Amino acid sequence: MQFRATQLDDSLVSFKDAVLRCLPPGGGLYVPASVTDMRQFFLYMDFNTSYPELVTTVTPGLLQGELNPFSASRVAESAFDFEPELKQLDDSLSVLTLYNGPTGVFKDFGIAFLAAVIEELIKNKGFAMILSAAKGDTGVSIAHAFYKRHGIISVILYPSGPIRGLDPGSFIQNGGNIIPIQIKGTFDDCQRLVAEAIHDRPFADRYGITSANAINVGRLLPQAFYYLYAFIKLKQHLKEDLIFSVPCGNFGNLIAGLYAWKFGIPLSGIIAAMNANNAFGDFIRGKEYSPHPLVTTNSPALDVSQPSNYKRLMAFYQEAPAVMRNMVYPEAVDDQATVAAMEKAWKKYNLILDPHGAVAYAAAERYAKARGDSYGHVVVLATGHPAKQADLVSEILGRELEIPERLRKLRHKTDPAALIDPQLDALQGAIASCV
Ligand SMILES: *Cc1c(COP(=O)(O)O)cnc(C)c1O
Repeated sequence: MQFRATQLDDSLVSFKDAVLRCLPPGGGLYVPASVTDMRQFFLYMDFNTSYPELVTTVTPGLLQGELNPFSASRVAESAFDFEPELKQLDDSLSVLTLYNGPTGVFKDFGIAFLAAVIEELIKNKGFAMILSAAKGDTGVSIAHAFYKRHGIISVILYPSGPIRGLDPGSFIQNGGNIIPIQIKGTFDDCQRLVAEAIHDRPFADRYGITSANAINVGRLLPQAFYYLYAFIKLKQHLKEDLIFSVPCGNFGNLIAGLYAWKFGIPLSGIIAAMNANNAFGDFIRGKEYSPHPLVTTNSPALDVSQPSNYKRLMAFYQEAPAVMRNMVYPEAVDDQATVAAMEKAWKKYNLILDPHGAVAYAAAERYAKARGDSYGHVVVLATGHPAKQADLVSEILGRELEIPERLRKLRHKTDPAALIDPQLDALQGAIASCV
């Protein structure tokens, strides 16, 4: 499989190049350039297939010539000591739990695969510096995934404010390979610095700089694997159409679902579940995209007014406008409906959802209601661990939540290795003095 830039540009690059220099020189983002039919690799897998087995089988097929089955097996085994979990709730509804990783959000899946695959790609002949902007617990997920990886240094840029959850024992000054740097500025400043550093060719080449942010297609592609996983777990019970309901913020998860469809899972629709920040609904329905002002809601990971995957969605739209219009169903769920969905999931199924999963569940219910009987089987993506919003979830469900130890640790504050101005030369100086 090769990759192309979303910007008009004819050149194709390998997976390795797309991952190790994750921004195309002419602008835009990388997207798969071709459709790979993966059915021969997963249609005959059965219910008992483990997640690492699935990843080991599918990856060499997808990245033919770039990753052999032995490499793929090493990647899968070293990335995934956690798995998704599919729970069938009734004939027409399942939930795919994606919060079993180290930081309790689905993002752990893409980041863990990326870290393992980069180590494999540079093996014996290279080094890489992973420069990433972090918000929320993403920094912990990145630090966890890249810690002790051979030939790799992970630099994590934080905006102003407390930094939480990192293990100082993993920092470079303590013999580790993680460098947390605080930027006197916003998350946007951090993202801008990552892009500037990658586009400064001599500098990027000297250190082998790439990123673990969602700009890296090597983080997005493996998210398609858990859609395949849900399918192989469910297929023996499937009598009708398969639909996924996905809570959307930056739309990475939704795009990964569309890629999974391209790889050949018999998917008949994806519900794009948004909260009050739903400017993208109109876009999906064919209107010009115009961002709306940001609204704060009880599902904060979906509070995005300008999705960073906009260019990838546009590229998909241009390739397959009919698919986008007929297969992607936008739904907008407000705070009140989100709370009602959490209550309903608990009462009806004894299922505890966090607000993001609840947005997807509410959207799935609406989709079903609008279509009456026999609309198919909907899989709701539970993207976040309920204990991450324990106070809100406890209050709504009227019961205490247990908070796993690994999520408790995310609250500890840590000090950065450096505090710098939001300028590229300051960042370059900080990196040079740490390495
Ligand atoms: C990041 C996140 C989302 C949004 O995913 P996108 O791929 O950005 O659309 C949904 N739920 C949770 C819990 C998240 O952390």
